[in-house]
Amino acid sequence: MASGKHFKYVVLGGGVSGGYAAREFAKQGVQPGELAIISKEAVRNSPFPPLPSPVAPYERPALSKAYLFPQNPARLPGFHVCVGSGGERLLPEWYSEKGIELILSTEIVKADLASKTLTSAAGATFTYEILLIATGSSVIKLSDFGTQGADSNNILYLREIDDADNLYAAIQAKKGGKAVVVGGGYIGLELSAVLKMNDLDVTMVFPEPWCMPRLFTAEIAAFYESYYTNKGVKIVKGTVAIGFDADANGDVTAVKLKDGSVLEADIVVVGVGGRPLTTLFKGQVAEEKGGIKTDAFFETSVPGVYAVGDVATFPMKIYNDERRVEHVDHSRKSAEQAVKAIKGKEAGSAVEEYDYLPYFYSRSFDLSWQFYGDNVGDAILFGDADPSSAKPKFGSYWVKDGKCVGAFLEGGSPDENTAITKLARAQPPATSPDELKAAGLQFASKI
Ligand code: FAD
Repeated sequence: MASGKHFKYVVLGGGVSGGYAAREFAKQGVQPGELAIISKEAVRNSPFPPLPSPVAPYERPALSKAYLFPQNPARLPGFHVCVGSGGERLLPEWYSEKGIELILSTEIVKADLASKTLTSAAGATFTYEILLIATGSSVIKLSDFGTQGADSNNILYLREIDDADNLYAAIQAKKGGKAVVVGGGYIGLELSAVLKMNDLDVTMVFPEPWCMPRLFTAEIAAFYESYYTNKGVKIVKGTVAIGFDADANGDVTAVKLKDGSVLEADIVVVGVGGRPLTTLFKGQVAEEKGGIKTDAFFETSVPGVYAVGDVATFPMKIYNDERRVEHVDHSRKSAEQAVKAIKGKEAGSAVEEYDYLPYFYSRSFDLSWQFYGDNVGDAILFGDADPSSAKPKFGSYWVKDGKCVGAFLEGGSPDENTAITKLARAQPPATSPDELKAAGLQFASKI
């Protein structure tokens, strides 16, 4: 077995949370050699040698957007953290300057919280005093359900940079071909758009009656579906992929749907959700709602072990419940909160409880939306939701128990997005639905 290394702090996972945690540690003060970030992510399939090349923390949302653009696609080092939130870009040199050890291309296969020891696939051991779990999620694969033909070539998923390189290569290889996107969530919507921008013939398939049903109302979805249709994306709703045909080389040729129809396909991209990567810690730490249960400082049931980002189920103070959030804003803020709490505990100083306001966003084609708060209660649409308008701008408020608890806005300016943020935080009493609809953004601007 390779010799062991000891660190005061170990962050397991070098994704979004891992990168923002490193920045916060540096801000709060760490001595050289005290902090290590261990992560398995590496570039293995890029056309640019040397390979494999390790990957320092980067802004994951870029992978389904600018990374796949037909012109001037984004590439590292352009989108290392923390550029996604307007901060300094942390290049690999930054970590060495700060004395933070980046242990990359290293998968941890065993975590023993009792002995505070992590073991890598190569047999190296790492011991720690404080552990921050930031392992994120893995994609759900159709092969997990035994879907016939799901292992065919060119059936692709998107989570890590390697996946994005595979998808980029497939797009180049199948120019002018047919792409089927399985899944109607934000990954499905973003990928359908970017595939279309690459001149593929795109069909989206999803089982629900409309896209993004976890957030969108039927009215909001109707706008996006029409917009996509106008751009040439075909949408097939209310059915699922039950199998795939492949040619003699094993390359996918068609998607078989439950409704009996068959879609020709040169590329299939599947975005049907993720699973938090908590397996290493099963039975060692309390879990809740599919994630690792934490307090308002992201400390788990095991003292000195913290969990942040996609894997954490934390107290959502504003709604007095517990939630797990798979979005980038929370991954950044939870990492910062955990590090503040760790350092605050050491210094004996108080840290305020995490008081998160849910925030999600997405961008595709010329569209860009933001959502703040909770999408519960009655939804009231306002503004210009005509997909053929030159510059559509519309939104929705959600009203529950007489209070406006959530707001969605397509095409908002920075000031308008700030206004809906304030509204979702303040939860003002709502006027009648007709008045809200008529007031539109004016209602948020008065907060
Ligand atoms: P991640 O960023 O996934 O990082 C986890 C890291 O841990 C990875 O590098 C992984 O390799 C590593 N790891 C895991 N297990 C191990 C192990 N055993 N050993 C070593 N290393 C390990 N959110 C939005 O709000 N808006 C968006 O537009 C948006 N777009 C997205 C687009 C894509 C393609 C994806 C995949 C996600 C998107 N998200 C978006 C979600 C957002 O990126 C995630 O919520 C966020 O990255 C979570 O951060 P994290 O640090 O918890 O996990």
